[in-house]
Amino acid sequence: MNKTNWAGNVSFTPAATETIESEKQVEAVIHRAVREKLPLRVIGSGHSFYPLVATPGISMSLSGLQGVVAIDPGRLEGWVWGGTPIRALGTQLHDLGYAMENLGDIDVQSIAGAVSTGTHGTGIDLGSLSTQVVGMELWNGLGQKVEIHEKKNADLLDAARVSLGALGVITKIQLKLKPKYILEMRQTKESLGSLMSNFRRELQDERNFEFFWFPHTETALVKRSHISQESPLSPSLGQKFNDIVLENMALGALSGICRWIPPITPKVSQFCAAAAGESHRRDWSHRVFATERWVKFLEMEYAVPIESFPEVVQEIQTEIKKSHHRVHFPIECRFVKRDSIWLSPAYGRDSALIAVHMYQGMPHRAYFDAMEKIFRKYEGRPHWGKLHSLGAGELRSIYPKWEEFQRLRKEMDPHSVFLTPDLRQIFGENQETMLSTRSA
Ligand SMILES: Cc1cc2nc3c(=O)[nH]c(=O)nc-3n(C[C@H](O)[C@H](O)[C@H](O)COP(=O)(O)OP(=O)(O)OC[C@H]3O[C@@H](n4cnc5c(N)ncnc54)[C@H](O)[C@@H]3O)c2cc1C
Repeated sequence: MNKTNWAGNVSFTPAATETIESEKQVEAVIHRAVREKLPLRVIGSGHSFYPLVATPGISMSLSGLQGVVAIDPGRLEGWVWGGTPIRALGTQLHDLGYAMENLGDIDVQSIAGAVSTGTHGTGIDLGSLSTQVVGMELWNGLGQKVEIHEKKNADLLDAARVSLGALGVITKIQLKLKPKYILEMRQTKESLGSLMSNFRRELQDERNFEFFWFPHTETALVKRSHISQESPLSPSLGQKFNDIVLENMALGALSGICRWIPPITPKVSQFCAAAAGESHRRDWSHRVFATERWVKFLEMEYAVPIESFPEVVQEIQTEIKKSHHRVHFPIECRFVKRDSIWLSPAYGRDSALIAVHMYQGMPHRAYFDAMEKIFRKYEGRPHWGKLHSLGAGELRSIYPKWEEFQRLRKEMDPHSVFLTPDLRQIFGENQETMLSTRSA
């Protein structure tokens, strides 16, 4: 059966599909994949733009392994099944009195899929979701269970917390938690110039700070959130109108017009900037982070060192003006604390994450290529789940722990059962070597 990802830019037909309901089944499927030489990929919610989940072999879903397994209230930690969607996780943790420290801007990914690509939210004192992982249970390419914990094998944890499914199948994840909390979020419209002059102070002052800059304008929509001791406010009618009608239905209709009459695109961006509404929310954290995304698009996102952020934004502005790129989706700027995870885009450096989007069906190549050139000039590292054009040579030069990760990957997966053609391109493995090592 043919499968596609959320954006529809990746489709594949696996030889077999397995829905997992027990750990025994994971072990059996890995043995089968090795025996039959079928590349095995776990699919979470299929929300990656990069073809990480595509396989001609076995497509495995952990949708039968969901929910909270156990909470340790003293340590503020909890074990959860890898297949749990983030929305369900937020609700279950909330019912038990807990929450995650930070989340991205949607909540439909599986927790293991989100962690495996370094999915992040925003806040310079907060790391990506992967940094909230303190332990995991992973089944390697020999079908053996490996128990990983920060106190027991910290290096292995730093490799496994962002591993693109290449070290094994993650069945359980142990997360750092917080007692449940209320977030107050204000969304305002401001000029890009004043945001850029003050962004360092904003990063210090705000728990969560991000902005969406509308290309072909000087306007940005800013979101600032902090923890509140006050009670939740039920969303106003205006808020619901903004979230559903403006951010989805109107954007969808305007995007359709841009695809039909491309020269109008800059005007549509200017219209969106003028129409974008200010808003205020106060609710339990897991409900404030998440937004609805009905309009389909393609996305590229790079992490650049925070020190380079002003120059990168300046170069993007110049490039859009010079080349008249036909884009109306805002450019999203977020901030993440440095970490020690080997393949994390924020490895060793506080980072600004800059994301560019293109409405589905509109040409994206020239725009993304131009943006990627700028990101790479500033030693940017791509988000693993989003589009990029880097191969092993370039990736090796921007990840100091690249070789260690490759050594470990070969130990954990000696038959290369977790490698597909797309993964081989990332890791620089050639087909012949892989087939000849598959001797089991
Ligand atoms: C509309 C939209 C909004 C997004 N917003 C954000 C955002 O705010 N912040 C951000 O950082 N990213 C964001 N992303 C990117 C997204 O979070 C990542 O691509 C994420 O990996 C998707 O999770 P998933 O469950 O769909 O994983 P998939 O795309 O299905 O898989 C991703 C990777 O994880 C591996 N994997 C999945 N489950 C397991 C497992 N159990 N064991 C081992 N490996 C596994 C897969 O093999 C694959 O390599 C967004 C994407 C979309 C489409």
